Amino acid sequence: MNTIQAQCIRCDKCYPLEAPMTYRCACGGLLEVTRDLRGLDAELLKRIFAHRRAERHTLHASGVWRYKELIAPELPDDAIVHRAEGNTGLYASAQAARYAGNRQVWFKAQSENPSGSFKDNGMTAALSHGRAIGYRRFACTSTGNTSSSLALYAAYADCEAVILVPSRDVSPNKVLQTLGYGAQVRTFDGNYDDGIRYLDAHAEEQGLYVCNSINPMRIEGQKSIIFELAQDFDWQLPDWIVLPGGALSNAAALGKGLQELYALGFIKRLPRVAIIQAEGASPFHRLAAAMKDNAARKHGRPELVPEPKPSTRASALNIGNPPSWSKALRVLTETRGITETVSDAAILEAKAVIDASGIGCEPASAAGLAGLRQLVEAGVIDREETAACILTGHMLKDTDALQEYHLAEKWGELHRNGIQQADLPME
Ligand SMILES: *Cc1c(COP(=O)(O)O)cnc(C)c1O
Ligand SMILES: [Zn+2]
Repeated sequence: MNTIQAQCIRCDKCYPLEAPMTYRCACGGLLEVTRDLRGLDAELLKRIFAHRRAERHTLHASGVWRYKELIAPELPDDAIVHRAEGNTGLYASAQAARYAGNRQVWFKAQSENPSGSFKDNGMTAALSHGRAIGYRRFACTSTGNTSSSLALYAAYADCEAVILVPSRDVSPNKVLQTLGYGAQVRTFDGNYDDGIRYLDAHAEEQGLYVCNSINPMRIEGQKSIIFELAQDFDWQLPDWIVLPGGALSNAAALGKGLQELYALGFIKRLPRVAIIQAEGASPFHRLAAAMKDNAARKHGRPELVPEPKPSTRASALNIGNPPSWSKALRVLTETRGITETVSDAAILEAKAVIDASGIGCEPASAAGLAGLRQLVEAGVIDREETAACILTGHMLKDTDALQEYHLAEKWGELHRNGIQQADLPME
């Protein structure tokens, strides 16, 4: 296999992605995979990608590996662990457009992935790369979906998965799913950010390949979400791409994917990106707001100030120190992107709208629609503009949220759907 190269986004130093795996530059900067895209013919690739859509059980039937030329051409096909990930539905929703107040809203349902979240798009790439460079033990820390995804792929590849799960604020459904796939689940007293610090310090000595999103291969796989979305739209994307931001890996990946599509000539116009954070875990929104203010820029290189006690009902967004913030910041610049925050009540109300439109999602995913509604109301997004919201995770990922909303009257009235007593005729 040709070695994949990654480059520090801060100081440009290059590293080969070989065992022992490197996740960060010596300067502390994040790494990203760089490759020479010259010589790729967008029109030819569009035809090839269109043909591959008809395949069923091959590598190219995967909605990630359909785009292998743009993701990891170096990986030998037989090293790739795939489960037909991607291939998710794109749905227009009149209910959602009415709710948000703009012309047209689409949902890209990444919830339809094999483990029920978009994490599968990145995980197939990370795990396959780890295997290709000789690892058999994989690890992550996670608020839930990264765990389920790694557990699924490791099990399918007959490898070991070691999962660090914070003892608080995770959805039981996701932990159970992870156990079901046979992973070793280790719980600890702390949050996601503490888990990341632990793996930074100890993964190498334990021979673990880390599948958190600081791993640049995860980002390469996740780019496929925007590739597939662009192909779904016949390579003309809507005005806005709206997505929730937690660790900000998805923002980083979609931004990188958009840049590559644009640079190669697949798309002629870059959509704008809106990253929506939960109010209780919004350090990136605060940074972006400070950057708008010229005074803040004068203080040299921007630095994210972590939120020490993140707190949101949308557990997948409960992250105080998002590892990929510097990549996400670049995406804002490159796409004239924006950020917004939404309350937990707004998230759960938007979720009820998405659920009742027959599509469904977990709370974190609904932050996108909640944010879109606020941005339209504020006039930041025009009513005539169109938007695609990325639905990141499945409705059944957090059944407690459904219970709290519809049966326990915890989150407001507007779309509540209780259970009625039926008077059946008694014999
Ligand atoms: C991981 C996740 C997010 C957050 O994505 P980041 O890449 O961490 O910003 C949002 N929603 C769901 C369902 C997730 O699993
Ligand atoms: Zn560096």
